[in-house]
Amino acid sequence: MNKTLILVVEDDRTVQNLMITTLKAHDYRYLTAMNGETAILEASSHNPDIILLDLGLPDMDGIEVIRKIRTWSNVPIIVISARSEDMDKVDALDAGADDYLTKPFSVEELLARLRVTERRLATGQGEQVNASTFVNGKLRIDYVAGCAYLEEQELHLTPIEYKLLCLLAKNVGKVLTHTFITQNIWGHSWENDVASLRVFMATLRRRLEKNSDSAQYIQTHVGVGYRMVKME
Ligand code: CA
Repeated sequence: MNKTLILVVEDDRTVQNLMITTLKAHDYRYLTAMNGETAILEASSHNPDIILLDLGLPDMDGIEVIRKIRTWSNVPIIVISARSEDMDKVDALDAGADDYLTKPFSVEELLARLRVTERRLATGQGEQVNASTFVNGKLRIDYVAGCAYLEEQELHLTPIEYKLLCLLAKNVGKVLTHTFITQNIWGHSWENDVASLRVFMATLRRRLEKNSDSAQYIQTHVGVGYRMVKME
């Protein structure tokens, strides 16, 4: 029995029904809201484990909903947006959303996103508290020594690559936007920073993924940013 409680915020009945049917079939518990005001109310009174949030709501901007909820809660928020709303998606992530789904999405995509989030909920907090070492699959970061290892072999990273790796690791499972990353690494987010970020990410990834059959630790989200994948 799956005890995860999901708050579904969606004003389009067809999409809402698809999500509810899927959640029911997989033993999730759920609540629904058709607008932002109800979403905030439900989120505060029922403490859901995960929120699925449509960005285009009738009464307020979905991003406003995220900002409100983030004033008191770190509940994972997965935003749902139309393909034409790429910028909204990035703004939503910058406002504190954890992940996104683009309409139209399949039932499998929805379930996959929920699994990623649940996995993070199950293991994430513990790792954040015990902050001296980070382990994910064959990757290990010793924050105290300032070294990273893959299969117990030290990775020779430049200071920026190491900073990037730590930032991704501290937010494992979460999509980080270009703006978020560049602001954390360089303290600002200029056009050039995004271009150099792309270069640093490419070299970092080459060091982490030595041969073609090794696990993929870093996902690229075109036009959005990057995510470190939580390994099984
Ligand atoms: Ca909508």
